[in-house]
Order: sequence, then C-alpha cells, then structure tokens
Amino acid sequence: MKAIAIVAACLAFCAPAAACGPQALGTARTLAIGPTAPLGLKSYPRTLALDDKELVLTFDDGPLPATTARILDALKAECVQATFFLIGRNAQANAALVRRAAKEGHTLGHHTFSHPAVTLRGWTTDKAEADIVHGMEADDTAAYGAWTGAPRTPFFRFPGFADTPRLNAALAAQGVTVFGADVWASDWEDMSADAQRALLLARIEKARKGVVLMHDTRAQTADMLPALLRDLKARGYRIVHVAPGAAPAPLAQASAGWRSETEAILARPHPR
Ligand SMILES: [Zn+2]
Repeated sequence: MKAIAIVAACLAFCAPAAACGPQALGTARTLAIGPTAPLGLKSYPRTLALDDKELVLTFDDGPLPATTARILDALKAECVQATFFLIGRNAQANAALVRRAAKEGHTLGHHTFSHPAVTLRGWTTDKAEADIVHGMEADDTAAYGAWTGAPRTPFFRFPGFADTPRLNAALAAQGVTVFGADVWASDWEDMSADAQRALLLARIEKARKGVVLMHDTRAQTADMLPALLRDLKARGYRIVHVAPGAAPAPLAQASAGWRSETEAILARPHPR
C-alpha cells in the first residue's frame, strides 16, 4: 500500500521533475538572499560568492509578448529557474506572462515602473523613489493579485545600473538588495543570434561564474537562448536560482585593481 501511495503522490507532484532528465541543464541549487549590500562586479567591488562554473541567469525589461514567452519556453525546456527584473508598466500590460513566470518558479525582481531614458539619475530622488515603488506595486499586483506595501521579492536592479547613494540608502533601509551584474550580454546592441550567443558564451567562459544579465525583450536573445543553455550544459556550468531569504548572501570581494564599468557604459548608448 505504501508503494502505491508513493506512486500516486508522484503522479500528482513528480511529473514536472520527471520531465527534466539528466540531459537537461537544470537548476543546481537555490540561494536564499536576505538584505545584502549592492552586488555585481560591473558596478560594485563585490558579488555573490559562487563556486566555479556557477551562474545566476537574469533577464531585464520584460515582460513583452513577442519574446518573453519564448524565453520562458527555453528555460522550461531545460528546467532552469531565472530571475526577471520587471518593468512595472510591462508587467501591468502583460500580467498573464508575469503570472506564468511566477508559476514556473522564477524569481520576480523589480526594475522601476517606467524605466526612464535619462535613468533615475535624471530625476529627483523623490520622483525616482516613487517610480521604484510604483514598479514594485505593479509587478506584485500582476504576479500575485495584490500589493501588500512591501515587495514580495525585495530585489531591484537600476535601469542602466545608474544608482545614486541616496537611492541605494533608501533601498537598503527597506531591506531591498540591489543587483548589478558580473557578465552582460550587451544585447542592447543589435547583432545576429549566432553572434549574440558566441559573445555571451565567450564572456561567460572568461568570467567562469557570476550573475549574467540578458534582456527578455530582445529577439536575438530569445533566438539564441535554447542553444546557449545547451552550450552551458555541455561545458559543465551549473545554474543557481536566487530567491528571497532572511540572511545576507555570502559575498566575494573584487580583486585588486577593480574598476566599475558603469560610468563608461552610461556614457555610451546605455543598457535598457
Ligand atoms: Zn533595463
């Protein structure tokens, strides 16, 4: 009887996992993150302490119908959980996609409501703070049907990585962790899917680990993601899923000679 009960339970709950065999890339582990100092070597002299060949996959600016569904399909096919830093107005307009991402186990972080072209540095602190909170409210309302006054997932990424000391302090006071990135796809620049895949893979191979930034709003990224995930599997990379937790995340400090790349990128046509 016990065996029958286990089989019955498995039929009810094990089907998704059973579909993810050893051939899938999969999610190797979940890292619960409580309030932590701003992280990501592109902007800050510290990042998550990951093991060699561990990657955190993140996608900014969505959701958009034309591309986000394809990104979710690719992640689902490889049983991988990622983090989406949502633009509030896109979440509001495409709530079904937000709910799908939540249902499929992805982490839903925040990326302002309106993602101003001037970045938040172009606004007063009050106006910027209001847009950050408005975005969190729109994202959580789309995902969970309600806004409780505090974000369900207190993770935030600045548009264009353009933070300010006052905004960082305000977010820290609310227990919100600011995510930069360690590796970026530069998918704000137009290129073919093959070129995008080769560029990002080369950057990952150089860094060997870290928080990877892509955009789920970019067709070239949606086009190349299935093959990239197969590349990562073939080369022995493991995916770490970040999720809200209680304790600060373990951090690794930048090596000597570290420099932020944020100012240089902001001086050019900047990340969306
Ligand atoms: Zn963005």
